[in-house]
Amino acid sequence: MASLFQLDLTTLKGVGEKRAKLFQKLGVQSVGALLRNYPRAYEDWRQLSSIACAPMGEVCAIKATVLHRPTETRIRKGMTLYKTTVTDGEQDLKLTFFNNPYIPNLLLEGETYVFYGKISGSFLHREMTSPEFCRQSDALPIQPIYRQTEGLSSRQISSAVKNAFALLPEIIHDPLPEPVRKAYALCHLRYALENIHFPKDLQALSIARHRLIFEELLVLQLGLLQLKSQGKQSVSHHPITDYSEEFWKLLPFTPTNAQRRAVKEALRDMCGKETPYPMNRLVQGDVGSGKTAVAAALCHSVIRSGKQAALMAPTEILAKQHFASLSSFLERTGMRLGLLTGSMTPSKKRAVCTALQKGDIDLLIGTHALISDSVQFRDLALVITDEQHRFGVRQRSSLSEKGNDPHHLVMSATPIPRTLALMIYGDLDISVLDERPPGRQDIATYAIPSKKRPRAFQFLRKHIEQGYQCYIICPLIEEGQSDMASVMDYTEWIKREFFPDLEIGVLHGRMKSKEKEAVMERFAGGKLPILVSTTVVEVGVDVPNAVVMVIENAERYGLSQLHQLRGRVGRGSVKSTCILISDAQNEEAVTRLRTMCQTCDGFQIAEADLRLRGPGDFFGTNQHGLPDLKIANMADDLETLRLAQTVAREVLSEDPELSQPAHRGLRGEVRMLFQQVGKNGMN
Ligand code: ADP
Ligand code: MG
Repeated sequence: MASLFQLDLTTLKGVGEKRAKLFQKLGVQSVGALLRNYPRAYEDWRQLSSIACAPMGEVCAIKATVLHRPTETRIRKGMTLYKTTVTDGEQDLKLTFFNNPYIPNLLLEGETYVFYGKISGSFLHREMTSPEFCRQSDALPIQPIYRQTEGLSSRQISSAVKNAFALLPEIIHDPLPEPVRKAYALCHLRYALENIHFPKDLQALSIARHRLIFEELLVLQLGLLQLKSQGKQSVSHHPITDYSEEFWKLLPFTPTNAQRRAVKEALRDMCGKETPYPMNRLVQGDVGSGKTAVAAALCHSVIRSGKQAALMAPTEILAKQHFASLSSFLERTGMRLGLLTGSMTPSKKRAVCTALQKGDIDLLIGTHALISDSVQFRDLALVITDEQHRFGVRQRSSLSEKGNDPHHLVMSATPIPRTLALMIYGDLDISVLDERPPGRQDIATYAIPSKKRPRAFQFLRKHIEQGYQCYIICPLIEEGQSDMASVMDYTEWIKREFFPDLEIGVLHGRMKSKEKEAVMERFAGGKLPILVSTTVVEVGVDVPNAVVMVIENAERYGLSQLHQLRGRVGRGSVKSTCILISDAQNEEAVTRLRTMCQTCDGFQIAEADLRLRGPGDFFGTNQHGLPDLKIANMADDLETLRLAQTVAREVLSEDPELSQPAHRGLRGEVRMLFQQVGKNGMN
């Protein structure tokens, strides 16, 4: 199979340089890639309908007999029509073809064919324009439909695939080892490829699909597990003692069971007794589930064990907030915390770096300034990255390179459906914080049309009069307008119309981080009743006294983002409210807003989001750093994924490098899949 990927497309009959270029647009560069370019759908020509019952405007297959030889009409220069009438014995159907001089020879009077196309015309005068057809005596096909590009139709792709099969030797090498195929009743690659492109029948198609999905997921899991074991090949030099009981006593609250469990799991990884490898763990927890305390507990045990820790946050605001929370948690321990952010003066940065290297700082908190070269630790044993989806895989590992194989914890606030987590974080162990701190209530959420905005703002005012604070997420930028201008305009407008007597803080992406922080600090200190912001407040920020959030143009955000935004309120014990303002009518937007009103469970929202948007868009373009999957669907193929994971573990336990002859094909596939990731951004 691998060698087919070196075979140029132009070796195929009917594919010249020009067409090869068009194929390239579809990402198909070789004969092998063509065979791996699976159809996105199928037309089933065997589902015949009668002419009378064929639904208007829809594509269908009709078996009918030609009543007369097609006639030829030149309507203008370069345009010739061929018309004929066919019948199924009950009703007639008029057919029209354009510029196809072969039609009169292909459609013979008195012969029966199956026509496949869209029905138009009126109830009594039905028509089809340029239908595809085949002789009724031929086995009726299930036709593949490919993703096409201008100048390259699905039909042409299908014929290139047919030619590729002609080149394919009878016996091709299957990357799936025979014992695996036998054990899990999977068909051979040759059968799978033939039937994914030109299915013999629906059962063959499903056998082929199952095998190809399995293969793809297996290759993915092999690659991810190999990545994981690369991290683990080094033996950890940092055995950490569990001091968590001591830490919990420092807190002003009692930890939840989920927090305790996550901390125990991480400390078990780090103690060095159960596995000799550094920890590599993901803590997944919805907004407000208390991830910061988990991070603090682990840093505490690491520092008590005589080592250094680092915590990396995606924004300055968050880094500072972590610094403040951890400082307060660890206040009575005498542990020394340092803060390092991009906006600090060079001399301040230098001072921090020197202290760090000397070991005068136990815990360094910061933004990605932490991964710059000048930052050197004395004895770094634990790296924690918060809100991981904002960092790429590569950034993650470059922080790990700083220490002598430190333990690594990733914290994600984006609840991810289990399937997706298994895929993306196949290289990590996972702890889930599935419990909220006591006293938390659901955030009451309402969707309202913009004409009810005055009432919403009255509601805001009532809360402000009681001493609470509110967020307003302002409308997204109009085209051509800067984000600053739109926030300013909007703020001025609501001040004039609704809140002339109140001070309104403003936060937007164009502000310098110093300015942002000044505003955030005033808001956190209770000095601003209202904060108007773009989505920069999205991550992590914690102001428990803010209890109402209004989101303008709510339809413009994805579900997960709405959920993240909403998570800024409901962080204290007071009942909080989120008001979504939107005039959107389209069904998808309405579904999204309705979902928000129905549930506050981040995992449920994530599932719904995945269903609505599909995995590709789940985090935005390729931010998840996963290779593109051709056939497996993360929302649907959970069972196969589990199977693939089991098999991947079995295979690797026997042959970690995939160097045995039986595994060479798999090794090639893994390399190919992950090469593509290297190119387009496993960053
Ligand atoms: P997130 O998981 O979103 O990062 P945080 O760590 O910011 O959540 O915690 C949210 C709030 O809940 C903070 O004010 C924190 O002090 C508080 N908190 C965390 N754990 C508990 C707990 N077990 N009991 C009560 N409050 C808690
Ligand atoms: Mg957080």
